[in-house]
Amino acid sequence: MLDVILPGTGGMLPSDTRWLSCCWLESQGRAVLIDCGEGTQIALKKQNLRLGNVEALLITHFHADHISGLPGLLLSLGNYGKTSPLLIAGPKGLERVVNSLLIIAPNLPFPIEFKELFGGTSGVETFNLGNMQIESFRLRHGMICLGYKITLLRKPVFNPEKAAALNIPVQLYKVLHAGENVEHDGRIITPDMVLDGERAPIKVGYYTDTRAFTEIADFVKGVDLLIAEGMHGDEEVRDRIHEKKHSMFRESAKIAALAGAKKLWLTHYSPALANPKEFLASAREVFKKTYTGYDGIKITLPE
Ligand SMILES: [Zn+2]
Ligand SMILES: [Zn+2]
Repeated sequence: MLDVILPGTGGMLPSDTRWLSCCWLESQGRAVLIDCGEGTQIALKKQNLRLGNVEALLITHFHADHISGLPGLLLSLGNYGKTSPLLIAGPKGLERVVNSLLIIAPNLPFPIEFKELFGGTSGVETFNLGNMQIESFRLRHGMICLGYKITLLRKPVFNPEKAAALNIPVQLYKVLHAGENVEHDGRIITPDMVLDGERAPIKVGYYTDTRAFTEIADFVKGVDLLIAEGMHGDEEVRDRIHEKKHSMFRESAKIAALAGAKKLWLTHYSPALANPKEFLASAREVFKKTYTGYDGIKITLPE
């Protein structure tokens, strides 16, 4: 199971109705946070999320609305007693940017491990965090900006009836479920003898701050949930949004349709967009399963 929550859905500036866009993904007590703008730690607390569960932070790019909340969040993690390493991944230049921010948050009680992604201009870069596979993809914004795809790999379900039929002691179940052979009564028992078939992985795509282009759809092909930028829904302001290298509602709906996503949440709204729902019907003409994200929207996958 993967819990996905948007604690914030605003672009550029936090407002009284929206914290800055970020995304929390958590499975079995291990959480990944994408982006950390001003006030993100408050947005997380408002959703009763456990900051101490954060194992990795993925930064999309270095515009302030995506990273300026980092020193405060790191200090809070320290205050919560975090001592285990925190992985921070993001575009090339990450370590320099974060170390500059750390001047005002020195002496953290936990080590930071940096992972700089993407020296190249195209392609996909992948790394693993436990049973989560994290892929990054380069977008088209005013500076290097990354989209992410998180794939939760799931172990096959343990079938206790099969195990009982083989007279396997209960204390060996865990070992078999972890994928290891066991020896019992002079026989070798292999995991496939007690596990059911493979389970499809759960996939979530996330991107904001980009002009829309079709290769994004290839990157997020078949995701269970696509979370994508909807800077504005009003076609009247499209040119202005494009000039600033952002995406419109209908453009992200098109990406979701091309990708065959199961569902789309829009996020990273312009501060000038008071009521995203006003343009929802228009986006749904392009992709029926479009939803306007809001602070606190959540889902547990698979549904
Ligand atoms: Zn932004
Ligand atoms: Zn930006």
